[in-house]
Amino acid sequence: MMSYVDEVIERVIKENPSEPEFHQAVREVLNSLRPVVAENEAAFRRDAVLERLVNPERQIKFRVPWIDDAGQVHVNTGYRVQFSSAIGPYKGGLRLHPSVNLGIIKFLGFEQIFKNSLTGLPIGGGKGGSDFDPKGKSDREVMAFCQSFMSELCKYIGADTDIPAGDIGTGAREIGYMFGEYKKLRGLFEGVLTGKGLSYGGSLARTEATGYGLLYIVEEMLKCHGHDIAGKTVTVSGAGNVAIYAIEKAGQLGAKAVTCSDSDGWVYDPDGIDVQALKEIKEKNRQRLTEYRKYRPQSEYREGRGVWSVPCDIALPCATQNELTAEDAKTLIANGVIAVAEGANMPATSEAAALLQANGVLYLPGKASNAGGVATSGLEMSQNSERLHWSFDEVDAQLRTIMVDLYHHIDDAAKRYGREGNYVDGANIAGFEKVFDAMSMQGIV
Ligand code: NDP
Repeated sequence: MMSYVDEVIERVIKENPSEPEFHQAVREVLNSLRPVVAENEAAFRRDAVLERLVNPERQIKFRVPWIDDAGQVHVNTGYRVQFSSAIGPYKGGLRLHPSVNLGIIKFLGFEQIFKNSLTGLPIGGGKGGSDFDPKGKSDREVMAFCQSFMSELCKYIGADTDIPAGDIGTGAREIGYMFGEYKKLRGLFEGVLTGKGLSYGGSLARTEATGYGLLYIVEEMLKCHGHDIAGKTVTVSGAGNVAIYAIEKAGQLGAKAVTCSDSDGWVYDPDGIDVQALKEIKEKNRQRLTEYRKYRPQSEYREGRGVWSVPCDIALPCATQNELTAEDAKTLIANGVIAVAEGANMPATSEAAALLQANGVLYLPGKASNAGGVATSGLEMSQNSERLHWSFDEVDAQLRTIMVDLYHHIDDAAKRYGREGNYVDGANIAGFEKVFDAMSMQGIV
């Protein structure tokens, strides 16, 4: 007889055709759970535990019409997938990128269940977004889209129901427009979104949290394996929220980040990326990375991909899914990489991840290493609930503690199942255990 895990993987592929990223995420998690399921396979099968895990509680798809500056009407598609509320209200970001479709949102929402569980905070898993592309749009066009998007989404979310946040293409500007529209339509000033501006309920250190958290967990992992992060050379992909603050924290910890990239090209700056220049280009002026050489003439800009060809000790993919291929993994290994930690969600292909692990590279999957963002969103929710505002140092200290604890939590889970050093299995198992425990106690819902 086919194992229960294989049966469910097969069903997911059959019932969700044309969703390869979702298949990839489910396969990875369920493969890790094999030893857990094997301990009690009959009961798992009887209670349809895995079917309940891989089927979202609810998925919402809606029309988003908006008018551009020339008077032309556009129609985009909006999504919100409310995946699991086993341990808390749904929580996860909103991605605005032309590549967005239901399968992408489902993969992200599925990953989010385990990530949120690993933070130790009471937050369930969800994700949303749209195929709208904010790039090249005026502020008014972005506002028109965000207001239209929220006019529908507001029916399904709330501070105790579902609390979206930012993701690719959704930064402070977009969150602000969405929050304003929610408040107007619902008549509620409540913490319904995280990543808000500081003047209206946002948390200090939320902007920095994903990148900083990534470096905190890498530092801890390296320390536990006898390495010091100071003096290490780091390659980073992406030039958005996660990449910028990963580069900044790497520098603060004495390491040197020498690359960054966007979807057109990449920068190599052997003296270390100038993070102030990067912030000015990306956060303030919303320009392309071709501008970087104006600030740092000694740096190199190349079109296309190439970040992973630069020799490094630590590689941090911080752009998007499946951006680090098997070929890239081979190059990194040949160049002596010690650690690869994912700032983005699922940036390494399955083949790349397997190669890194088989070659003894310390490899942290995104659901563990980028959990600092959602963890700090959880801290923003706490501050909103108690109507208080914590200091930067207080939030940052809590973030660091969460990431260090998370590392030991996944390390312990891997050891318990004889998979020492396999942080993919450790993260999936540890994330699942809490969710399963909560599901078991809440009946068949
Ligand atoms: P941003 O939109 O701020 O930045 C994304 C960066 O990645 C940009 O430089 C963008 O380049 C590049 N990028 C995006 N898509 C592609 C693509 N298809 N090919 C090449 N480059 C691409 O997003 P974030 O920094 O917030 O998110 C980056 C990753 O981190 C995502 O996987 C996200 O899900 C994940 N993440 C984010 C968290 C957060 O708190 N923001 C929390 C946890 C995970 P360009 O501008 O040219 O498109």
